[in-house]
Amino acid sequence: MRLATSALMLLPLLACADPAYQGPAFTPAQQSAAMAEISGGQAPVRRAMTDEQAQQAIARVARRLAPAGTSACQELRRTCNWRFIYDPSQELNAAATGEGDIIIQRGVAEYARNDDEMAFVIAHEMAHHAANHVQNTTTRAQIGGVLAGVLASLAGAYAGVSPDGLVQGAAGIGSQLAVISYSKAQEREADAIGATIMHRAGYDVAQGRSMLLALARLSGRLETSLLSTHPAGPDRVASFDAAVADMKRANWRLGAAPGG
Ligand SMILES: [Zn+2]
Repeated sequence: MRLATSALMLLPLLACADPAYQGPAFTPAQQSAAMAEISGGQAPVRRAMTDEQAQQAIARVARRLAPAGTSACQELRRTCNWRFIYDPSQELNAAATGEGDIIIQRGVAEYARNDDEMAFVIAHEMAHHAANHVQNTTTRAQIGGVLAGVLASLAGAYAGVSPDGLVQGAAGIGSQLAVISYSKAQEREADAIGATIMHRAGYDVAQGRSMLLALARLSGRLETSLLSTHPAGPDRVASFDAAVADMKRANWRLGAAPGG
C-alpha cells in the first residue's frame, strides 16, 4: 500500500494502489432518491443513425475528451496512447483494452441525447485506462485471451482510419470484451475520474449523468451489454453523485501521490 502524504489524503483517488478509490458512502435516502428518479423517467429510445453519422459524433466527442484524458493519465502516472475504435454494432456499449484502446459501439451515439451523454460513456472508459484497471483487473488472464481475439478481428476487419481519426473495427468486437468485469471500487473510481475528464474537457457532468439514468432504465431490457459489465441501478447513481460531489470539493484535482 502506497499512502500519499497527509495533505494528499484529502484526495482519495490515489490514497493507495489497490483498491484506489473507495468513494464516499451514500445514504439510504440518496439511494431511494435515485430509485425514484430512475423510475420517474422514460427509457431512452434508439435513434437510427448511419455509420457515418455515428462515427462523426463519436469522433467529435473522443477528440475533445482526449487532451483531458491524457492529462488525467499523466497525473495518475500512466501513459495512455488513445486509439478510438468504432464498432458498427447497434448495442449501447464501450470497452477499454490494450494501452489506450477504447472500442465504442454505434449504439452509444444512437442512444445518447447529446454529446454530454456520449462523453459520459467514453470518459468512463478512458478513466479505466487512467487508473490502470485494464492491467490491474483480476480477470487479467481472461482479458489476455479476449484481447488476442479482438486484435485478430481488428486486423481482419481493419479498413483504415476514417478522416475523423476513428479506427474502423468489426461489428461485435465490443461485445467480445463484455466478459471484462471490474470491481465495484474500480467502477466508482472510473466514474469519479471519468467525471473529472468530462468536466475538464468542458462537458456538463450533470447532463452526462442522465446517461447513467438511461442505462438504469434500460436494465429490464436487453439492448445493452454495458449493464453486464457496468451495473447501473440506484446504487450506481447514488454512488456517482457522491463521487462527483467529492471531486467538486477537491476542485477536480486527481492528486497524484508520489510514486503512486
Ligand atoms: Zn467501467
